[in-house]
Amino acid sequence: MTGTDPDYIFKILMLGDAAVGKTSLSKHYIERAFTPDIRLTVGIQFFIKQEIVIEGKRVKLQIWDFGGEDRFRIMVPTLCLGSHGCIFMYDVTRPSTLNSHHSWTYIIKERCGKDVPIMLIGNKCDLVNKRAISMEHGIEVAKRSGFTGFAETSAKDGTNIDSTFETISRLMVERMRRLEAEDKNKKGKSPIIIGD
Ligand code: GDP
Ligand code: MG
Repeated sequence: MTGTDPDYIFKILMLGDAAVGKTSLSKHYIERAFTPDIRLTVGIQFFIKQEIVIEGKRVKLQIWDFGGEDRFRIMVPTLCLGSHGCIFMYDVTRPSTLNSHHSWTYIIKERCGKDVPIMLIGNKCDLVNKRAISMEHGIEVAKRSGFTGFAETSAKDGTNIDSTFETISRLMVERMRRLEAEDKNKKGKSPIIIGD
């Protein structure tokens, strides 16, 4: 490994219904800009976050922004392969977008592995007058449904964007450390002779 290689390259999947703000949030995190009326993402779009440092580890994020249209849903199980973390987003002004989490989280847990960090994110918290889901309810759903973390964000004013990606990165680093330790334990066992 050269001095410029990151310690980890993580694939994060952005999931959730159409128009909850997945593309806007990813874009804001990478480019620090909010572009209103982004065209509906077709299929999948990638964003790369150049190195951030988490717990002393240099981490590069590959953000896979999923289109969210029903006709692309068939791709999700395949996209989950090799993912290190997932962000499931809903829109705090539209309750139906939170209700759809069951069908998504089931697939994620089955395909990515049960210990892959999944964050529940309520986006558009800047739309105070249109809010239809309280933060308390969001936290309650996150706890009840086995999410690893929760936050409310705004891709418009930037609320909690960096901290959300930093939190999921920390969870992913911790998971990698656990897996590496388990691997070492397995490798450390000397040969034994059976039947003596
Ligand atoms: P996606 O389909 O989940 O990728 O959603 P988009 O990022 O395309 O956003 C859908 C619409 O919601 C666009 O018109 C965005 O400008 C708008 N939008 C996204 N995030 C926010 C937010 O945090 N606040 C507000 N007010 N509008 C948002
Ligand atoms: Mg999109």
